[in-house]
Amino acid sequence: MFVCGNQACGARWELDEVQIRNEGQGPVFRCPQCGARNHVEARTARDGSTVYRQVTAKAAEKAPEKAAPKAAPKAAPKAAPKARSKPAPR
Ligand SMILES: [Zn+2]
Repeated sequence: MFVCGNQACGARWELDEVQIRNEGQGPVFRCPQCGARNHVEARTARDGSTVYRQVTAKAAEKAPEKAAPKAAPKAAPKAAPKARSKPAPR
């Protein structure tokens, strides 16, 4: 059972209802209803048959995007420390 990853669609499909093809980034099937690409993973079962398991698009990406912490400048030195000048006594 596959579920279309397009949240607006969300259609469910049996294996024989979809065509799994490798479009260069691993096996995917296109949702027959909305055409969204859904990544699957091919596994060879013990009996030699190929089984497909749906994977989320994020998991299928080769280079998972890390939440890169931005190197924030440490306490930037203040340009000109303001010298508080006290009112000069007269
Ligand atoms: Zn769909």
